[in-house]
Amino acid sequence: MTKFFRSIVVPLLSLASAFGQSGVTPAATVIRAGTLIDGKSDQPRHDQVIVIRGNRIESVSDAANAKTPSGATVIDLSQATVLPGLIDSHTHIFLQGEDPAQGGYDVNILTAPLALRAARATVSVRRALEQGFTTLRDVETEGAGYGDVGIKQAIEAGYIPGPRLFVATRAISTTGGYMLEGYAPELDMPKGAQIVDGPVEARKAAREQLDHGADWIKVYMTHRSWVGKNGELVSQPTLTVEELRAIVDETHGWGKKVACHAYGGIGLHRALDGGCDSIEHGLDLDAAAIAQMLKQGTWYVPTLSAYYYDWGPADTPSGQRDRLRAAVHEPSFKKALKAGVKIVFGTDMGGIPWTDPIAQEFSRMVEFGMSPMDAIQSATSRAAVMLDMEGKIGVVAPSAFADIIAVNGDPLHNIKVLESVQFVMKDGQVFRGK
Ligand SMILES: [Zn+2]
Repeated sequence: MTKFFRSIVVPLLSLASAFGQSGVTPAATVIRAGTLIDGKSDQPRHDQVIVIRGNRIESVSDAANAKTPSGATVIDLSQATVLPGLIDSHTHIFLQGEDPAQGGYDVNILTAPLALRAARATVSVRRALEQGFTTLRDVETEGAGYGDVGIKQAIEAGYIPGPRLFVATRAISTTGGYMLEGYAPELDMPKGAQIVDGPVEARKAAREQLDHGADWIKVYMTHRSWVGKNGELVSQPTLTVEELRAIVDETHGWGKKVACHAYGGIGLHRALDGGCDSIEHGLDLDAAAIAQMLKQGTWYVPTLSAYYYDWGPADTPSGQRDRLRAAVHEPSFKKALKAGVKIVFGTDMGGIPWTDPIAQEFSRMVEFGMSPMDAIQSATSRAAVMLDMEGKIGVVAPSAFADIIAVNGDPLHNIKVLESVQFVMKDGQVFRGK
C-alpha cells in the first residue's frame, strides 16, 4: 500500500439499494483524481473531481469549479492516475491454465467435479476484479455447461465478488472440431464444446444456449493447426458457411452477437462470409479478410500474449507450429491496426493461469505498434461499444456505472503500471484500495 491510498473510506452498505427502498437521495462519494484517463477522450485531464451516487457517476468536473456535496465520502487519488474499470473481452473463468505436464485440459474435464470447477471459477473472477477488470466477456466454459450463468448470478446477487459478466455458455463446434480427442473410437468422450452437424443442429444449439442465458454465442470456426508444405500456418476449418449462417441468424434475432474463434484460411473466410460479429485470435489475417472486416465492421480480439505460452520443444511438429503461430500473429495484428480494424483487448485468461497479470496484454499491443491510449480504449470504451454498453461502462462520465480504477504512475508513458492496479471500485463499491 502506498501513501496515496491511505485515506480511503469504504462505504459500508449498498447505497443503490438504500435509494431504491426509501426514495432518499443516496450519500455521495467523491473521488479526487490527479490525472483522469476517461476511456474515451484522447487526452488525459488533470485535477478532476468525480461525484458518485449509488452505483452511478453523477458528475466529472475540474477541481477548480467542482462543488463537493456535503457529507460526501472523499477518496483521495490526487497522486494517482484514474481510469474506467477495464474490460477483458476474451476469458475462460472455468479454465486455470492447465499445465500440459500435469495432464492439461483433458484431466480437468475428466476428473474435476463441477463444484470444484465452480469454486475455482469463483477465484478466477475475484482475481480479475483485484486486477482492475470490472467486466469480462467469458467465451465459453470448456465442458462446464452453463456454469458461467450461475457464477454471473452469484456475482449479481452479491454472494461473491466479481466483474460484470457477459457469458457464452457451452460454445459450438463440429464433429472432429473440439477436444477431447485422440481416445479409442469406441469411447463416447465428453467434449469441451457443443458439437453440431448441419444447419438444423446448429440453430438448435444456439437456441438452447440463448434460452439458458447466453449473452453471446461462441463458435469455433477453426480447430487443429499445423505447419503446411510451404512453411505456412494451416488451420482445419469446422462449420460450413451454411451452418454458421443458421447460428448467426438465430442469435441476431435474439438481439445478441456471435464471437468466432478463427485462426486463418478457409475457416476465417467462412467466419466472415457467415457474418461473425467478432473474430477471436485471427492469427493469420490476409488482405481479403482485413478488407472484409472493415466492410462488415467486424471486431478483432487478437489475444496476443496467449500464444507465447506453453510452446512445445523446438524440434517437434507441435513446437514448430507453436512458434509459427506467434510469428504470423504479429504481422497480422500490425496490418489490422494500420488498416483501422476495430481492435478490442482480450487475453484468453484461463488458457493463461489467473495468477499471471491480465494486463500483460497491453505491453504486447504497445510493443506491436498500438499507442498506449489506443490500447487503453480497446479495453474500455471500444469494448463497451462491442458489448452494446456504450456510455454505461468503459468510461468515466456522467450516468456511467461507477466502475473506476487507479494506478500509480502514468500508463501513457509506461503501460506496465496497469499490471499493478491500486484501487478498484465497481458499481460504486470499493473493492480494493482500503
Ligand atoms: Zn479462448
